[in-house]
Amino acid sequence: MKASSTNSTILCSKLYIFIWVFFAALILFSRSYASPKEEKLMEYTQTKPYFGAYVTIHCFYSAKTNIAGIINDCWQKVEEMQNNMNVYSETGEIAKINKFGTFGVVVSESVFKLLTSSIAYSGLSGGAFDITVFPLVKLWKDAAGKAHLPDSKEIEEARSRVGFGKVILEAPNRVILCKKGMQIDLGGIVSGYACDQIAHILEAGGIANFMIDTGGEIFAKGKNKGSMPWTIGVQDPQDKNALLMTIELNNECVSTSGNYEKFYMIGSQRFSHIINPLTGYPQKDVISATVIAKTGTQADALSTALCVLGGIKSELLVSSLENVEALIVEYKEGKLITYNTGRFSSHQ
Ligand code: AMP
Ligand code: MG
Repeated sequence: MKASSTNSTILCSKLYIFIWVFFAALILFSRSYASPKEEKLMEYTQTKPYFGAYVTIHCFYSAKTNIAGIINDCWQKVEEMQNNMNVYSETGEIAKINKFGTFGVVVSESVFKLLTSSIAYSGLSGGAFDITVFPLVKLWKDAAGKAHLPDSKEIEEARSRVGFGKVILEAPNRVILCKKGMQIDLGGIVSGYACDQIAHILEAGGIANFMIDTGGEIFAKGKNKGSMPWTIGVQDPQDKNALLMTIELNNECVSTSGNYEKFYMIGSQRFSHIINPLTGYPQKDVISATVIAKTGTQADALSTALCVLGGIKSELLVSSLENVEALIVEYKEGKLITYNTGRFSSHQ
């Protein structure tokens, strides 16, 4: 799960997502929210704290919908995911894998599927995205707590317990960690996965117009108020009060990862919470990576991966994928460089 903060760790809320949904224009519209078929739509919106951030479910639905039941199922699913998939949770399946993984652990179908996807994103990104990175995440987090940089020996030791190739996924449901001390951290993918799970429940309940915001990700489908596009603003990573651009989303997710609001301080040095599993050090160059993809899982995993890969490799990876667009803002050798594809290309 997303790392929590300690006294000497500055790890701001994932609300840094720099993505705001625009409601302002809606004031111009009547409050009856007529859909194109002129059906009067009702509105539900609620925000709750999950995944070290805030999750918002916002939807427009027909009065005939069993909204209470559907929304209850959504929040129950989120609660379940937080307990079951959080690396910091004492209970749940990830905790079980992290304690007994070397003996082999039988997990649920959903955890097995998410682990399988996670490993696939590791392969796709050449190991930039790696859910086994936790020994390094912990090392750097503890270093921030002690205000003391880890030495190369400690980094090498932690790195020896990292590597997606040391995870065996035995169908249909068994997980084996090949090295003692390995630990799984789904923090880079679980909130995007949560978007997909919530979207699935809403769709199955017949809700066609919704927006889910997990702090780092926004998934939107259908129309805002039943009649207008869901429009999100991409925040300028260098200026919280400014937007780089706006984008219309439909049946897509946008996810942002970066180091400008979520980071560790060790002494006077600032370190990203995203670690390069191949070097053992926090990634340095990418200020933010924003990805649009068809699923929350893909957008979330890729935005984390692109932070590690950096602009040039990210552009290559993204251009090889269908229906994936990205905006990467990098600060390297004193220069700000922007890489963009697809709809982000309108940003210079
Ligand atoms: P996100 O904010 O989605 O980019 O996820 C960041 C979180 O993912 C961190 O707080 C860690 O828990 C975890 N993480 C850090 N580095 C990596 C990495 N290289 N691959 C996968 N997960 C990572
Ligand atoms: Mg991510």
